Amino acid sequence: MSGSEYFKRTAVTRLAVDSDGHERLLAMVREWKRGCQIAVNTAWGNCHTRSEVQQLAYDVLRERTELGSQHAVLATHRAAEAVKGVLERNDGTAESAEKPTFTSPTVVYDTRTMTLFDDKAVSLTTTEDRVRCDLVFPDDGYQTQYVDDDRWEPAKSNLCYRDGQFDLHIGFRAERPGADASSEAGSKEKEDATVLGVALGVENVAVTSTARFFSGEKLDHHHREFAELRADLRETETRSALRTLRQAGGRNDNFVRDTLHTVARGIVEEAEKHGCSVIAFGELETIQELLPKVDEFHAWVFERLFDFVAYRAEARGITVVQVNPEYTSQRCTACGFTHPQNRDIERTHFECLKCGNEANDHYNAAKNVGFRCIRRGPLSSRGVGAQYCALGSGRVTPDGDFIPNEELAEVQKP
Ligand SMILES: [Zn+2]
Repeated sequence: MSGSEYFKRTAVTRLAVDSDGHERLLAMVREWKRGCQIAVNTAWGNCHTRSEVQQLAYDVLRERTELGSQHAVLATHRAAEAVKGVLERNDGTAESAEKPTFTSPTVVYDTRTMTLFDDKAVSLTTTEDRVRCDLVFPDDGYQTQYVDDDRWEPAKSNLCYRDGQFDLHIGFRAERPGADASSEAGSKEKEDATVLGVALGVENVAVTSTARFFSGEKLDHHHREFAELRADLRETETRSALRTLRQAGGRNDNFVRDTLHTVARGIVEEAEKHGCSVIAFGELETIQELLPKVDEFHAWVFERLFDFVAYRAEARGITVVQVNPEYTSQRCTACGFTHPQNRDIERTHFECLKCGNEANDHYNAAKNVGFRCIRRGPLSSRGVGAQYCALGSGRVTPDGDFIPNEELAEVQKP
């Protein structure tokens, strides 16, 4: 499934779990990691597509783990993604590549293993009985808009264990209206639509195709400081140390939230300034696989940022989509030549081996994300109907037809 025919959102919620449920979920986390690892070990050097890994590893998992049938399937898929991610970073070969290991305390759930109830409760499959518990929404409560609205249906979700607590990152999706009929129903306005491409990353949390950079430095700094504090206080484990940790965590959360709201506002401003009716991000799940430096914190940051942008943009009639981000960092926007060595990751520099085109590599990726939204063909996302990608100086088609801003201003005058 390309994921592009749906709007996707993530609602992060804490779970109110009793001690018995806590133990069962912890056991589930351990078994899931073990299952993913067994599936990777089985697939490594043999195959990497979901169906292949499932075929090869499913029986092994059923035999050697406590995972139920659906979670065994999900674990093989998770393993396939991890293997594929490593191979892609390594030019498609397993030689000299490091086999993925599963350390992060996260379990994938889908609608067969997770049930959401109207009274804001959830039940989750474990290795024993299901755990049923309440969802705890934070003060800003943005989650309720998805939970309470029938247009949003639950989708793939992640259970995460952190600081002794369980969070559920509930995925929601809604069908994009007229995704298939867009070319007929689409007006002239839609055919001429311009997309703003956004690349997510660590050094820069976001870069737009119009060359606006949002630094990720402060976020990263806060995150590291908090992680160090956590490590220090963990050693003591006194009541006051835990209180300090909670307070620091709260401050950290507020800082991150404020920062992301500012970035989201900036991205939507940029879209409006350049007359964009679509904002395109790389598919979040795939980004996590593609970027080696992305840890759980950044994955969370990306999800939150995407939601903030989507929320703000929709109110302004701007569509927000996720497109397949594969190769967006390796492709030259000038000549289309795609190669991993086109980019120098250390210097965040892009230089095309074929045509010599040079750019900041995040900016290059942002343009490719925009183009990916437009291009027809196997890699394109269907139904968005955009034709141009917004640049700082004007707008451009993937074939290089460029309209400078001055001309656009002429056309748009009443
Ligand atoms: Zn080139």
